[in-house]
Amino acid sequence: MTEEIFAHDGYLTEFEAVVSATDGDWVSLDCTAFYPGGGGQAHDKGTIRGVSVEKVERRKNEIWHLCPGHGLEAGDKIWCSVDWERRYELMKGHTAEHMLFGALSRLVPDLNIIKIDIEYGDKYVVIDRDVSWDVISDAVASVNAAIEENLSVLKSSMDRDDPELEHIRAKLDRIEGSEISVVEIDGFDIAACSGLHVMETEEIGFVFADRRVSSGKDGYAIHFKVGEAAKRVSSELAYACLKVSDALNSKPSDAEKAAANLLSDLNGTRAMLKKAGKALVTGAGEKRISGAAVRYGVFPADIDTLAEAAENWKAEGHTVILATDSDPSYVILASGDERIDCRKILTDVLSSVGGKGGGKKDFSRGGLLKGSDPTAFVEKAADAVGDILSSL
Ligand SMILES: [Zn+2]
Repeated sequence: MTEEIFAHDGYLTEFEAVVSATDGDWVSLDCTAFYPGGGGQAHDKGTIRGVSVEKVERRKNEIWHLCPGHGLEAGDKIWCSVDWERRYELMKGHTAEHMLFGALSRLVPDLNIIKIDIEYGDKYVVIDRDVSWDVISDAVASVNAAIEENLSVLKSSMDRDDPELEHIRAKLDRIEGSEISVVEIDGFDIAACSGLHVMETEEIGFVFADRRVSSGKDGYAIHFKVGEAAKRVSSELAYACLKVSDALNSKPSDAEKAAANLLSDLNGTRAMLKKAGKALVTGAGEKRISGAAVRYGVFPADIDTLAEAAENWKAEGHTVILATDSDPSYVILASGDERIDCRKILTDVLSSVGGKGGGKKDFSRGGLLKGSDPTAFVEKAADAVGDILSSL
């Protein structure tokens, strides 16, 4: 059985131990300060007699350390060192996670925590629903106020059967043993947790939530940073917002409204353009080539509008050759005249003007290469249709 130093002292990182067993690249010790990971917190790294510890894991009552090339034997007395920078970052992140979730659940009743992931780089908490940036920013503000107040982080343990546990946030099904470790951030949050935490909230420095993403059926992940990284990212994002408000020609406090107005204007303009494009296409003149009705031209409309018009004219027995006035341009060749093989004409003309396409004998479509002239396509296709009709 390994004595777990980290369980009673999260700050002790240099220690002497005796090798109790080895298993290939793995080493177990009589005592260790290396946290094997758990409660969403990543495992420690560091060195054992100067050899790097890449992974740590718990196997029943023993804690094993992966140290490739360790060269150790049972009974060796060794000096060990936990990577403190990594460990301290994980302790701060883990404590911040308790505070962030505690603050969020005060603002959103019945909020549930689904998953926690505290890594050296990325840190996030998955909650069972989406919450707005307004709620997140209120929660983060109350966390940072509590950090400034320098609240104590107290550790205690309770019996699994203790009725008081009902008032404490705990995923008891995920915790083994009869004794439950409880972490209380003085007056701010209380939760069952066997991970490692700082002793005072001031140590965290600063918390900033910088990303919220759907994590599928699980819910929503709120990513956050602590300490200097949190200050850095909050400053970067503040300047990004200032640049956006300059671009929108608005005050930062009005940028959100200005962007919403712009988007609504844009959608209105798009709808109007679509309508105008449709009117242009439907108003396209009819030409007679060898006695058959042919409609053709290049139009400032999207391919769906052209396809709809083409279907209608095709139903009336017309031949239709249409191209979008865009770069690259999209083209359609359709015909209600069964003497016309649209796919063949389209692919022939596209290979001469540059482009690709395909489809059916009565309706085919394609795209020109970027920079290719849609007028050339339309004219060549009209010539090809004329040649076929006049030869019959
Ligand atoms: Zn914890």
